[in-house]
Amino acid sequence: MSTITNGKLADILPVPRIPAVRDRLKDTPVAAPKRVLLAAPRGYCAGVDRAVIAVEKALEHFGSPVYVRKQIVHNVHVVSTLEKQGAIFVDDVDEVPTGSHIVFSAHGVSPAVVSAAADRGLEAIDATCPLVTKVHREAVRFSRDDFDILLIGHAGHEEVEGTMGHAPDRTTLVNGPADVAALEVRDPDNLVWLSQTTLSVDETMETVRLLRERFPNLHNPPSDDICYATQNRQVAIKKVAEEADLVIVVGSANSSNTVRLVDVALENGAKAAYRVDYASEIQQEWLEGMATIGVTSGASVPEVLVQEVLDDLADAGYADVQRVVTAEEDLMFSLPKELRKDVNGEADSRGLGGRTRQLDWQAK
Ligand code: SF4
Repeated sequence: MSTITNGKLADILPVPRIPAVRDRLKDTPVAAPKRVLLAAPRGYCAGVDRAVIAVEKALEHFGSPVYVRKQIVHNVHVVSTLEKQGAIFVDDVDEVPTGSHIVFSAHGVSPAVVSAAADRGLEAIDATCPLVTKVHREAVRFSRDDFDILLIGHAGHEEVEGTMGHAPDRTTLVNGPADVAALEVRDPDNLVWLSQTTLSVDETMETVRLLRERFPNLHNPPSDDICYATQNRQVAIKKVAEEADLVIVVGSANSSNTVRLVDVALENGAKAAYRVDYASEIQQEWLEGMATIGVTSGASVPEVLVQEVLDDLADAGYADVQRVVTAEEDLMFSLPKELRKDVNGEADSRGLGGRTRQLDWQAK
């Protein structure tokens, strides 16, 4: 039986590493001393932590298989590890046998998905990040108050689909600054903007600026929709990028906040920036002539994957790891309500343990 402790996933997950991969990066000379700038905060956020633990606890309590709608979080290593533990990932509820347990991912779902699961007799466990739920509530409230919603986000992203599903007749998607000129709205005086939680802060503010130029009476959301984890990781990589020749971002291609970190690094001084799922993807030629390498990771990335990158970089002569800390995080969310009692009916007092403290003090 697993325990819920700080850094749990990072502690237990083996990285599928081929021994021969070690030492494949060569220690070639560069003009200045080699070093790594390690961004903090990086890696797991409170919402990801909660969602991954929700699947683990569901497996623990209900046994395998537990079905998960979409990737629980956008990270290939997390998903493949949970698959090995007995989770089955599906695209939609109609693939799940009646009576099964299904977990809704951290990105959230529309009310239509919740209804479809209930109609099918599924036992749903909602691992939607509470900060995504907050945006859902805003969408419901503003539509009820007769506002139209301009939702800044990426078409096709699961979070955007879920949020739009809470006010489908009132929401227009705005993919970014380029969409603003062509927008048509019902009533420019009853208009509010909301956003996906994992966008670039700078690009979103530019989109809002353009929206306000067109619609001066545009209302703001009651609080930031771009979440603390996304913002904190962007602030940290900005600081790192100012001094880095190369930035390596650990995370998956479909992770919005991960991809934004690559963009932010390039916009803030890095000569080059690459995303990798695993350390084995780092190419020798990326390192040629690079003295300072920045390292960070997206909000769905277990720390063990970052450690592997640091180990490989050390093989290439980048053993000097300097931490760049711009914030400390200690947010935690309680487990989904469906899991707060264990199978024996005992209240589960185990919280999530402030795992977002897995900042740089776990690094070298
Ligand atoms: Fe929640 Fe932000 Fe993490 Fe997404 S990135 S799961 S919104 S805390």
